[in-house]
Amino acid sequence: MVNVYALSGGLIDLDRSGFFCDEAPGTRVTVPVICFLIAHPHGRVLVDTGIHRQATADPVGRLGERRAGLFRLRSAPTDEVLSQLARLGLAPDDIRYVVNSHFHFDHCGGNEFFPRATFLVQRPEMEAARQVLAGATLRYSPSPIDFDHPLDYRLVDGEHDVFGDGQVVLVPTYGHTPGHQSVRVRAGKADLVLTADACYTRENMDRDVLPSVLWDPAEMSRSLAMLRQLRDRQGATVIYGHDAAQWQQLSRAPAPLA
Ligand SMILES: [Zn+2]
Repeated sequence: MVNVYALSGGLIDLDRSGFFCDEAPGTRVTVPVICFLIAHPHGRVLVDTGIHRQATADPVGRLGERRAGLFRLRSAPTDEVLSQLARLGLAPDDIRYVVNSHFHFDHCGGNEFFPRATFLVQRPEMEAARQVLAGATLRYSPSPIDFDHPLDYRLVDGEHDVFGDGQVVLVPTYGHTPGHQSVRVRAGKADLVLTADACYTRENMDRDVLPSVLWDPAEMSRSLAMLRQLRDRQGATVIYGHDAAQWQQLSRAPAPLA
């Protein structure tokens, strides 16, 4: 039996136009940062590691001036991955796999706390990150302070069934970043799709609007259409990456989401 838990990674306040490319700047919104713990009989999988815990006390020091200005954190000290895992009685060494949806700061900030886990990352994501480390300037800004640690990164090419039983499947959703991925989980009767930033909110999916921050619009559009099909044709329950309204309704750890 597989169980899924939603972990609070805190709240960030940002301009709505970042989420919807057809809107003018000027309206602030507050959105959740979410990580997930999937408990599978053969090991626990952490999906994303959130924002680094240091950022709450010292946003400029951790995120830099530019990002600290664009994204204001409204998190309690316990809204970070280690405190959230502790709510489930878990320590970092209890995690077998960490899945990074992508290398933006709000998805890989806690990577360094899992030195014994195997990290599953799509190959194009790591290739772009390595180019940036080598000094290239890309339209993509992965966050080296967060991902560039001596961790066991395993590269994945496209769809990947983590345990070989169809219960935890990584689904490539490229476009937001070069190698973004989402996760499909079958937990009992639940069929969940954790989109991460392939779809920030339900509104993005329903109105078919892309965010302003992205790598490849055509690719992201295809990924969004594929996720919509899973929801509307296959009946999957979609958990959006940063949807404030949905977050209000979700069961959070230590209660299971599914
Ligand atoms: Zn994000």
